[in-house]
Amino acid sequence: MTWITLSEADIVEADACGEQRRALSKALRLKSSNNAPMDDATALARDIWGARGEVAGRNYLAPVKWKKFLTEDELRSGKKLPDLEDWIDVKACRQSHHCLMVQHDNPPDVAYLLICAAEHPHHRVVGWCWGHEAKQERFWEDKSRRNRWAFFVPRNDPILRSPLDLFREVRRRQGAEPGFVGERDGHFVHYCHCGRWGSFGYGASLRKDILGTWYCKDHKPTPQEPLPPLPRPPPPPPAQGDLFAE
Ligand SMILES: [Zn+2]
Repeated sequence: MTWITLSEADIVEADACGEQRRALSKALRLKSSNNAPMDDATALARDIWGARGEVAGRNYLAPVKWKKFLTEDELRSGKKLPDLEDWIDVKACRQSHHCLMVQHDNPPDVAYLLICAAEHPHHRVVGWCWGHEAKQERFWEDKSRRNRWAFFVPRNDPILRSPLDLFREVRRRQGAEPGFVGERDGHFVHYCHCGRWGSFGYGASLRKDILGTWYCKDHKPTPQEPLPPLPRPPPPPPAQGDLFAE
């Protein structure tokens, strides 16, 4: 299972983002999507938990672009660009039995990533699939019985792919070779040989332009045990003739 724990700073950032989105929606007098009737507090909570899920997704897939601020046009039309890297949309949920929900007008070529906040601040990165994979008749349901139909992909359905597959797809699209260390789009990037982000650098000196080697936490070399002190060699036996030299 893949878990991301949000720090205090992550939560503050996500909550401010959710509040900002809610304030803008309210100023524009927008109705919620999919006919969901909602009071202010519920709508605010939904926006905040949505942003927390996005931050968890961003942290898991880092480094990725996060579309933190929605434009007025996007809010009005309800057609916003995907949250991460322009092709990944985070679907946040708050209960451990919740499905990945994809709306009928969600684009088919976007990756939908289910992130569950049931154990907040520990968020579980559950799995993902493409929009066209979710849009199957067998997933089409009106779960709430309030005429709010959508595609609901259960967590144990084999079409859900592993988070690591999405991570690798992100790196592939970013043109990252496993183990690549260097500049890309004006940023210094450093990957482990396994393809994941390298958080632990060895031998790097940015001032001297020495890029070093980088590892994820699973592959970082274990620190060398200090060598045990060498046993002292026994004193050489006195040479026969020396004994009575004086
Ligand atoms: Zn690694």
